[in-house]
Amino acid sequence: MFDLPPLPYPMNALEPYISEKTMEFHYGKHHKAYVDNLNKLVKDTEFENMPLEEVVKNTAGRKEFTGIFNNAAQAWNHAFFWNCMQKDGGGEPSGELKKKIERDFGSYENFRSEFKTAATTQFGSGWAWLSVDKNGKLHITKEANGSNPVRSGLTPLLGFDVWEHAYYLDYQNKRADHVNALWSIVDWDAVGKRMK
Ligand code: MN
Repeated sequence: MFDLPPLPYPMNALEPYISEKTMEFHYGKHHKAYVDNLNKLVKDTEFENMPLEEVVKNTAGRKEFTGIFNNAAQAWNHAFFWNCMQKDGGGEPSGELKKKIERDFGSYENFRSEFKTAATTQFGSGWAWLSVDKNGKLHITKEANGSNPVRSGLTPLLGFDVWEHAYYLDYQNKRADHVNALWSIVDWDAVGKRMK
């Protein structure tokens, strides 16, 4: 059985960037539905007692397990996403993360611009990601639907949901505004700690 992990802050903590109303639906309905559906789909299968990340890895790209993959990946992605943000977040990255961002993207401004491009050009539902590879190099990717960099062997540092359910109540069709809001709530300490 997989559990819906508790939200790491109150539903209204990310106001005005992400409204309480969006949180009630996004966490309380969408995230919960992925977990509930996953539990139904894995019952009496080899995936029932596997750690969630292993379910994602072991079902990725396997046609017969598409339903399990979609729900497992979305359950994993959302739990990760909530922990990329905090009340009074934002500012700029520091320490090793700052150095790597400047080394691999030229500057923090440039990083933001590339991340925004990935997030706004993902056609349809999906995610934008900042990840690190085994050699310590940073990568920005966009992935469709529930896909994430775990399946490519990358370690995700920052994930950003660009499904319409993530922003429509707050920003309607303006996905770029949703991306811009991230820079006021991103938890750079949490992102940097994932580099090890
Ligand atoms: Mn979502």
